[in-house]
Amino acid sequence: MVLGMKDTTRKELSLEAMTDRWQGLFSSVAEMPSIETKKRLEETRNRIGQVIWIRWLLLIGLLAYGLVALGLYSWLDGFTLEIENRVVPGAVFLFAWACNGWYHITYRHFSKMRLLALVQVGIDLLFVTVMVHFSGGTLSWLWGVYFVLVLEATFLLEKRWAGLAAGMAASLAYGAVLAAETAGWLEPVPVPYNLTAAQTAVSYAAAKWGWVTLLVLSAADFGCAMMSLLRKQRKSLQRLVILDELTGLYNRRYFFQRLHSEMERARRYKRSLGLLVLDIDDFKQINDTYGHQAGDRVLEELGAVIRKHIRGGALAAEYDLDVPCRYGGEEFVVILPEALSSESLELAKEGTMDCVACGAWIVAERLRQQIELAKPGGFPVTASIGVASYPGKAKSVDDLVALADKALYAAKRNGKNQVMAIEDLQPLDPRERAAKSFAV
Ligand code: GH3
Ligand code: MG
Ligand code: MG
Repeated sequence: MVLGMKDTTRKELSLEAMTDRWQGLFSSVAEMPSIETKKRLEETRNRIGQVIWIRWLLLIGLLAYGLVALGLYSWLDGFTLEIENRVVPGAVFLFAWACNGWYHITYRHFSKMRLLALVQVGIDLLFVTVMVHFSGGTLSWLWGVYFVLVLEATFLLEKRWAGLAAGMAASLAYGAVLAAETAGWLEPVPVPYNLTAAQTAVSYAAAKWGWVTLLVLSAADFGCAMMSLLRKQRKSLQRLVILDELTGLYNRRYFFQRLHSEMERARRYKRSLGLLVLDIDDFKQINDTYGHQAGDRVLEELGAVIRKHIRGGALAAEYDLDVPCRYGGEEFVVILPEALSSESLELAKEGTMDCVACGAWIVAERLRQQIELAKPGGFPVTASIGVASYPGKAKSVDDLVALADKALYAAKRNGKNQVMAIEDLQPLDPRERAAKSFAV
């Protein structure tokens, strides 16, 4: 549920307001998109934009070709072309032109891009099939456009099954036209200077359909393989840029990027946000006594402990999951979007902390206990954790980090192995802590 307000200041008659009505139908993006969701949406939008431009080029090419062909046939034959050779393709062409114009103006306002891409591919398939029929069916050369259509589908829809399904659909649509024409259900459109006997020959139609099907399915498979290779490579590069090598958690760069985005989201939608800063106690001693390799093993295993005991442990970009990061050295940070929980509401009633800070505090305390139990790298390791939250004392990202840091150093000064929240720089008494029912 969204607690925040909706932006109602848009003008009713604006294009945005008009397309907003479509958004109910087309919207699938989370109500509170994370930075990743927005990025993915933008990438899909760019792809759709590219396809729209390519379609303009194809339509201009088709118009030029159609006019030349029409002029030539008319000149040579003295306007003996059937009316349907001109009127219907012209009308279909104008329809395709209008559709692309509409996409061009509105596509940036849709959020359910996959459905939009599917509709585009479907309309293009219909357009190509109608054009194939009116340019001679079996004898038409326009089947080559099915190639472009299949590549468009793999480019837009990305999924392998979608590309292959588009290839199958192209093959079926082409087969349906040929079958209807050769069976006599659909009157073949006569094409000047062509052998019309071949136009209705079943054997010729079957051979051509088989050949075209083979070609479009190969194009679909090829397109899908290329897209999946590109996607995999991009994904592994993206991971390298945002992950910490040793622990596999997010790195410092990603931490700030994500914290800004989560802060903006929390502010805009009036949501809660918590931040933990965790520092291993007396880590230098482990390094000095057992060596840096042992220290590294502790850090590595501690990363796994952190990941295991927060929400959505596996690394994921969803907006309501915790985001574990290695801040540097033996310091870790965890962003806690939606820090509020029923547990924290209960606890907040009893103490001095507000419920959001309490939510973050509960996660921190659970983490602290688990680290103590886990013995990462085989050593009895403890950690101190500072907690800050929004809304609360923090008004910005810098505030949040500075306050959590301040709380961490207060915890260190106070004897280490404890959680301190900035709202309450008094640590909870261990007995009081044990009395809380969230204990492990
Ligand atoms: P405190 O309880 O006050 O935090 O004491 P501490 O010994 O942990 O002190 P501090 O946080 O200042 O120590 C950080 C140490 O962490 C110093 C550095 O040698 C070690 N360290 C930082 N990065 C790495 C790393 O990547 N691998 C290993 N093995 N050690 C690291
Ligand atoms: Mg440190
Ligand atoms: Mg330390």
